[in-house]
Amino acid sequence: MPTAVIWFRDDLRLQDHPGLQAAHRAGFAPLPVYIHAPHEEGEWAPGAASNAWRHRSLAALDAALRARGSRLHVFAGDSLATLKAITTATEAAAVYWSRCHEPAAARRDEAVRRALRARGLRADAWNAHLLFEPWQLETKAGDPFRVFTPFWNAARRAWSPPAPVPAPDLLPTFSPLPGETTLDALGLAPDIRWDAGFWAHWTPGEAGADAALQAFIADGLHDYPRGRDHPARRLTSRLSPHLHFGEISPWRIVHALQEAGPVEARAAFVRELAWREFAVHVLHHFPHTQDANFNARFDDFAWSAVDPALLRAWQRGRTGVPIVDAGMREMQATGWMHNRVRMVVASYLTKHLRLHWLHGARWFWDQLVDADLANNTQGWQWVAGTGVDAAPYFRIFNPVLQARKFDPAGEYIACWVPELRELPSKARHAPWEVPTGSRPTGLYPARPIVDLAEGRASALEALKRIRVPV
Ligand code: FAD
Repeated sequence: MPTAVIWFRDDLRLQDHPGLQAAHRAGFAPLPVYIHAPHEEGEWAPGAASNAWRHRSLAALDAALRARGSRLHVFAGDSLATLKAITTATEAAAVYWSRCHEPAAARRDEAVRRALRARGLRADAWNAHLLFEPWQLETKAGDPFRVFTPFWNAARRAWSPPAPVPAPDLLPTFSPLPGETTLDALGLAPDIRWDAGFWAHWTPGEAGADAALQAFIADGLHDYPRGRDHPARRLTSRLSPHLHFGEISPWRIVHALQEAGPVEARAAFVRELAWREFAVHVLHHFPHTQDANFNARFDDFAWSAVDPALLRAWQRGRTGVPIVDAGMREMQATGWMHNRVRMVVASYLTKHLRLHWLHGARWFWDQLVDADLANNTQGWQWVAGTGVDAAPYFRIFNPVLQARKFDPAGEYIACWVPELRELPSKARHAPWEVPTGSRPTGLYPARPIVDLAEGRASALEALKRIRVPV
């Protein structure tokens, strides 16, 4: 039986895997391969939390393959050179992979495809990541979408998610190949175990993704529309790292929801999945936005010069603004932050501290287990007001009002900022308003590092100075 190399990247699953299915249809023996090549991802090579997750996800994939008679063959180095060596050693007829949409990875994949085809191999890529590939939906004028609602309307008109396909029962065994290394030798898992606290919250891999989906359907979906903004309630799916690493397909999620929960809840959840699709659509059509403002008028904006102490205070959850600090500490402890709080901390950085959104995007990139170039870029540019269909810059989240509205009993704050636990719940949102003598806050900053009213006024003043008004 001729061999097809299955080149795994961010599609770390066996169910709903188009490359595996194609190999099966063509009568090829699938050879599962992972090539560690972070240098090929350019400026946005995966961060520390992503690497820690990937290590465990690859181990889970390897275990699932071994249970079926195969295993993951691991390599490190240049992707094309490695694929050439593998296909030569195995006399493979084909290389199959799932498409990546990050600009650097997409360029690399195109070069690989051409080079392999020039050698007479079948080199094909499939969609494993999205309900709609970025080029499938367009405006009536044939342009990419820049506004979410019409994108979503077009998506609903074209709606036809494929049916889920189970993992193969048995896979062939291959002998060790020249140049193989081990997963441990890739150095993805941290030496110093700063990630030790993560794994009480997460199970990387396909089985963990399926379990997270089932738990969400049982416990979260029903109250999702009303509860999804309340960080203490844990009503969101926490599927984001599983989706990023391709441990579950979006169409499996959509399919599982068909019979579950109230219609309104399903619709609200699928709409969030569509924001993910929209983010990939925008990044594909406007790849410069990974580093630059989508709205070029902001190129003139007077961002503050970086004060390392202020940036560090934000990064470490020491700003003196409890909801901001709670979010930053949740991310440090678990590798994830609730969406509402992501918006609040991003607004605080780009508006009250007036720091360029890239400072925040890069920190998130290193800290999040779900770090995803499309979603992260879109999330930051949306909050900063510089992106497509973004919140206007002048809409500045008041972190105290946000906390009072979405964490009314201060439970989320108490969970992540233990210095404030002894305060009455209503006082946790703005502890500086409590008289000094009765403020049991230990070493917590006595006041916000930037006065909230002054920070807001200075952000609005800077907005007025943009040459062409937004
Ligand atoms: P759920 O509410 O259960 O939503 C289900 C899925 O829909 C998510 O897993 C995610 O894939 C998608 N989704 C939900 N909200 C959004 C959104 N606003 N934009 C795009 N997709 C969405 N998400 C990432 O996956 N990776 C990132 O690096 C990332 N960075 C962000 C940075 C900022 C500043 C902001 C404001 C948002 C960012 N998001 C990012 C989007 C969002 O915060 C997360 O997707 C969400 O919190 C993940 O939790 P969940 O899986 O429980 O979400």
